[in-house]
This record gives sequence, C-alpha cells and structure tokens, in this order.
Amino acid sequence: MQDLRFHRPASARDALDALRAAPEGRFLAGGQSLIPMLKLELAAPSDLVSIAHLAELQGVRTEKGAVVIGAATPHAAVAESEAVRRALPALAALAGGIGDAQVRNRGTLGGSIAHADPAADYPAALVALAARVTTDRRELAADEFFRGLYETALEPGELIREVRFALPERAGWAKFPQPASKFAIAGVFVARVGKGVRLAVTGVSSKPLRVRAFEDALARDFRPAALEKLEFPSAGLTDNRDASAEYRAHLVGVMARRAVAAALGA
Ligand SMILES: Cc1cc2nc3c(=O)[nH]c(=O)nc-3n(C[C@H](O)[C@H](O)[C@H](O)COP(=O)(O)OP(=O)(O)OC[C@H]3O[C@@H](n4cnc5c(N)ncnc54)[C@H](O)[C@@H]3O)c2cc1C
Repeated sequence: MQDLRFHRPASARDALDALRAAPEGRFLAGGQSLIPMLKLELAAPSDLVSIAHLAELQGVRTEKGAVVIGAATPHAAVAESEAVRRALPALAALAGGIGDAQVRNRGTLGGSIAHADPAADYPAALVALAARVTTDRRELAADEFFRGLYETALEPGELIREVRFALPERAGWAKFPQPASKFAIAGVFVARVGKGVRLAVTGVSSKPLRVRAFEDALARDFRPAALEKLEFPSAGLTDNRDASAEYRAHLVGVMARRAVAAALGA
C-alpha cells in the first residue's frame, strides 16, 4: 500500500474542500470496500478524506411519504431504525442481511452505492423504489445513477449527502447470498405503488436490472403465482465460479417469487 495523507474534516464542506485540493484523493466512509481495494493495490489515492464521523451525513428521517437516509449511515443503523422498520421494512431487512456484523457496523449506504459493486444489495432497492440520490451539487434518479460495473453517474469529488426513498404500498426483498461474503448471487427487490410495480435484480449483471416482463405480470396480479410461467433469460448474465448464468437466471425467478411473498407478508 502506498503512502497517503489522511484527513478528518469537521464538516461536509471541509471534506469537499479537502478533496478539491487533492484531485487524486477519495472519500473514505466505512472503508469496507475502499480499504480492501487499497490493500490489493486496485486503488492508490493520494489522500483519504474521512466522512464516516460527520453527523450531518448520518441518520434517518421520515417525511411525508418518504424515508430519507444520510449517506454515512451504517447498514446496522438502517437495519435497526424503528422508522425504517415501520415505514419500509423490506429495506431494513435488506440492510440487516448485508455481510456480517462488522461490515454492517462500518459500511454505509453512500459507500455502497458509490462503489456500485454488481452484487451489492442496496442498488436493487434504489432502482425498485425509484429512489433519489442527493449530492453536494444535484439530485439523481436511481435509474440514471448506476451506469455499469463499479460505475456511477458521480463526477470526481462529488459527495452523496442522502438518499430519498418514496414509500411504496408494498415492498419485498429476497436474496440468495454467496455463503461466505453474503453478497448477492441473485437478489430481487420488488415495490408496488398504485397500479405500478418495479422489480430490480442485483448480482446477475454489471448493474441492477429491471425485469419488465415480471413487472407487467405483477401489475396485473401481485402474487408469486403470477410469475410461475415466466422465465428470465440467462443470455449475458454473470457466469463465474459462484454460479453459472443459467443458475442465476433460475434464481431470479425464485427470488422474485419470494420477494413478492415477502411483500405480501407471507
Ligand atoms: C466481507 C464483506 C462482505 C460484504 N457483504 C456485502 C453484502 O452482502 N451485500 C452488500 O451489499 N455489500 C457487502 N459488502 C460491501 C459493504 O456493503 C460496503 O460497506 C460497501 O460496499 C461500501 O461502503 P463503505 O461505507 O464501507 O464505503 P468505503 O469503502 O469507505 O468507500 C467505497 C467507495 O465509495 C466512495 N464513497 C463513500 N462514501 C461516499 C459518499 N458519501 N459520496 C461519494 N462517494 C463516497 C469512496 O470514495 C469509495 O470509492 C461486503 C463487504 C465486505 C468487506
């Protein structure tokens, strides 16, 4: 690991200033993705600007029809938040199933979506819930935020401040985890709002995928049985030592039915 300068700014504004002065630097939140990358020499920033301790980037608040979560809120805090458990229990369940206790205590929502691991859990929830990502300079829709493998719409030095989740009528989450890391081999988040349904899959491709055929079937009949005759195509899906593309395609169907069952409280 190469030498680097560490900054502990007093505010988000100071963090942005510090990174502006160090264009090869990176924000450091929970370090659960960035520190392993440094150790493996997959990243070599000149500076690390810590944001994990900044209270202004942390916490959960409820607004009319929405839950808003600060970017530096650890996964464990989301999982344990009474407000999230009441308003959006599927999101609390998702956060509670990320990694292990250490990852959940350190890793943050903002770090997870900025890193955009193709097997991460939160991206599926953001896309299915049509969440809005607020940064220091703009607001981005989840559909435009995730661009590809570890790639987002964030510009260099752009800081995620919070994510706004509009509340659906029903939502459900189901994941088939890699047994060691708990990253998704296939994970499905489904949300129903009025007559519309959005369903997003993580773990099977370079970025979260919406499955329109499943959404249309569920808009007509929001029950697991509505998906029974539908197949998810395996062409182009991730194919590696954890699971073949065909197995992942099969899992998408199974996880989608489980997510719908979870949304119905079954
Ligand atoms: C053993 C293990 C198991 C895991 N299992 C899972 C799992 O089951 N599911 C899952 O989804 N994830 C899993 N993860 C990943 C975990 O969720 C990480 O916490 C997350 O990917 C990164 O969050 P972080 O706060 O640690 O970010 P960091 O590692 O600190 O940063 C990651 C990247 O995001 C950038 N960044 C951080 N915060 C911001 C911000 N506010 N604005 C702009 N950029 C920012 C950083 O500059 C860096 O590029 C696992 C990780 C480990 C180590």
